[in-house]
Amino acid sequence: MINSLETMFEWIDEMDDSYHKIPIASVDLSGKEMEYVADALNSTWISSRGPYLNLFEEMLANLTGSEGAVATANGTVAIHLILAAARIGPGDEVIIPDLTYVATANAVRYCGATPVIVDVEPDTWCLDPQMVRDALTSRTRAILPVDLYGHPANTPAIRSALADSGALVIEDAAEAWGARYFDRPVGCLADAATFSFFGNKTVTTGEGGAVVTSNADLLTRMQLLRNQGQDPDRRYFHSEIGYNYRLTNVAAAIGVAQLERVERILGLRSRIVERYRDNLSSCRKLSLQPIAAWAEPSPWLFNVILGDGARSRDEVVGKMAQAGIETRPFFVPLTQLPMYGAEAARSMGGTPVARALGERGLSLPTYNRLSLTEVDRVCEVLLESV
Ligand SMILES: *Cc1c(COP(=O)(O)O)cnc(C)c1O
Repeated sequence: MINSLETMFEWIDEMDDSYHKIPIASVDLSGKEMEYVADALNSTWISSRGPYLNLFEEMLANLTGSEGAVATANGTVAIHLILAAARIGPGDEVIIPDLTYVATANAVRYCGATPVIVDVEPDTWCLDPQMVRDALTSRTRAILPVDLYGHPANTPAIRSALADSGALVIEDAAEAWGARYFDRPVGCLADAATFSFFGNKTVTTGEGGAVVTSNADLLTRMQLLRNQGQDPDRRYFHSEIGYNYRLTNVAAAIGVAQLERVERILGLRSRIVERYRDNLSSCRKLSLQPIAAWAEPSPWLFNVILGDGARSRDEVVGKMAQAGIETRPFFVPLTQLPMYGAEAARSMGGTPVARALGERGLSLPTYNRLSLTEVDRVCEVLLESV
């Protein structure tokens, strides 16, 4: 029986010691998270109103160079919320990349719209602007570039590919808090951007998400739809079918503590990523995640692609697990999932880049408190396993 948090933490520490296990991700609540959560609980504002929520949204907007932010229950509903606010529905097409977490595609289907799945570029692993241009039709209402594994999509190029088609660009930046296109942060590059604050993301609230935008109409509509479509001036008058997609003040308290020290969090993770690069860049059996000349990626997860002469990914994963090191295979491309397999990829010749990455990609442990000694150990075991 776990009768206090302290007992539980001791128990977890013991487990770590005995297994020397290096997990793929680990949550760091070493800032003011506990203090702010206790404060939120003491205030009794534990549902979806309260000062931490207001502050969290303000910080999200400021840090992304956006006019406003709408915090949500998770990152998946953040995508659904912005699509619903833009009135995207049946008959509409939304262009998305083949290589992403399934939430991107599911949110499009929640609206009854059609996901149009195209390939990613080899040099960013993100939506290919030329393929977006080729996939445009008179029904295209939105493009959803995903900043995969922290590397920003070339959103400005995608915007110019649209010319005057009128389609919206909504960036799924769930994995890319703090990433930049030249000196501009993701969040202000598209018509709107969404984030996830799940436990393994760079900034976390446990479960949580947000949409940021500078479009006042979309902002107002998202606030309405997030709150069951209730008229802000008339209680229990609901002008349309909305959703309960609200975040709690308790979760926002965690978020405020995280954002207060986000530069430090990014700094810690950048050191880890650099160490991985230094240790692994000369291995001929591996290639590392590319970085475009204009990009400053967010240090979310460090990734390698197993190249010619390497063992199979399953073998590498197994060998590393035996040494107590957790790794993570890449997302399975959408077109290889049963729900999306039938969606013929529009890009000529299918989605070979996404398929190759999906088959050979592996993510390595990346979290704030991973020491450089542990990074060296992961690399040593990887180089033996590959
Ligand atoms: C994490 C993630 C989401 C949203 O996930 P939630 O678990 O719902 O917060 C959406 N898209 C991508 C690419 C993600 O990695």
